[in-house]
Amino acid sequence: MERRKVGILGATGMVGQRFIQLLSNHPWFEIAWLAASDRSAGKTYGEACRWKLETPLPANIAAMTIQPNVPEGTVGELPKIIFAALDADVARELEPKFAAAGCAVISNSSAFRMVADVPLVIPEVNADHLALIEAQSTRKENGGNGGYIVTNPNCSTIGLVLALKPLADRFGIESVFVTTMQAVSGAGYPGVPSLDILGNVVPFIKNEEEKMEEEASKLLGRLSGAKIEMLDAKVSAHCNRVAVEDGHTECVSIKLRTKATREQILAAWSEFEPLRGKHLPTAPAQPVEFDGGADRPQPRLDRMRGRGMTATVGRLRECSLLDWKFVVLSHNTIRGAAGAAVLNAEILALLGKLDKLGVAATPAVAVMA
Ligand code: NAP
Repeated sequence: MERRKVGILGATGMVGQRFIQLLSNHPWFEIAWLAASDRSAGKTYGEACRWKLETPLPANIAAMTIQPNVPEGTVGELPKIIFAALDADVARELEPKFAAAGCAVISNSSAFRMVADVPLVIPEVNADHLALIEAQSTRKENGGNGGYIVTNPNCSTIGLVLALKPLADRFGIESVFVTTMQAVSGAGYPGVPSLDILGNVVPFIKNEEEKMEEEASKLLGRLSGAKIEMLDAKVSAHCNRVAVEDGHTECVSIKLRTKATREQILAAWSEFEPLRGKHLPTAPAQPVEFDGGADRPQPRLDRMRGRGMTATVGRLRECSLLDWKFVVLSHNTIRGAAGAAVLNAEILALLGKLDKLGVAATPAVAVMA
């Protein structure tokens, strides 16, 4: 099968580098275009990027020239599938320009996650929300040529929601109380100064608690016509930065709408296989995996389960305030960012939503827009 050409916006950053790593040998996608800030444009990727990953930078990528970060001015053809790993302010300006140029923008940023017609998606949780693309891609400002923006959640929300979804489906969720211990790579590069984080915990991450609370409600919400009805549950988050390189750990207490036993909760997690049989290359066999060890999950030991795409749950026990409590751990730059976006692209491909990009809408659709 011929691979589809893709581009990466923000290719030199922490998440951008994970995109390079995950897409370099991808069976469906081929990296054909890279962009970053104006500081990097015109340089080779090898010159512009401070490569921080444990696998070597592929030589063919190192030799690629960083393109201007606009849809115009590219040497050769602009790929119609753009992965974006930009800060929210930059994303707010740039992502709509690529959607208007007929691209599928598969974004990591928070800029558009809560916009009503922008899908916020974890394929195992709410792939049906991708139906919002139809309304969005006929917006006037999107040029009526099939472009759109699809987002994945914040890195700490993803682990939490993967653990909650099987319980929400079987028992319903009334309230969630979560405290995070988030890795430094979640703050981008160079991130938190070493003198602030070494031997320390920082009990504040700007806008993170608000993002977790609202994004969880949208992800677990219900598609109703062309909008999402938010989950009717209380979610309260405390977010902390800790001196861990990769992997966000979260302590969670939940109140369920229907009482559940420990065995029922464990069964809900282990039987959660919504993508089984779909053969998406980045989907882990087990999206939520329980570890019965008394002191697990731990970031160093468990973050790479399912090639960094599995959320590991552990320490399930009764909670004297709510019903149950447990710990969940997920890799913040793989499942929490680049891997999440690549999986979004794979489900979009499976659903045929990457097939009509850059194609002008029919006159009837253009009039509706
Ligand atoms: P980062 O390491 O700071 O990288 C930022 C990237 O954006 C770099 O490639 C940078 O290019 C580029 N850039 C900066 N200013 C630009 C501009 N004006 N125009 C175009 N490109 C520009 O950040 P990150 O950690 O990769 O995060 C990227 C996004 O993903 C953020 O929205 C973040 O919230 C989100 N995210 C991150 C994580 C995580 O765990 N790190 C998880 C989930 C979501 P230069 O090298 O040229 O400066």
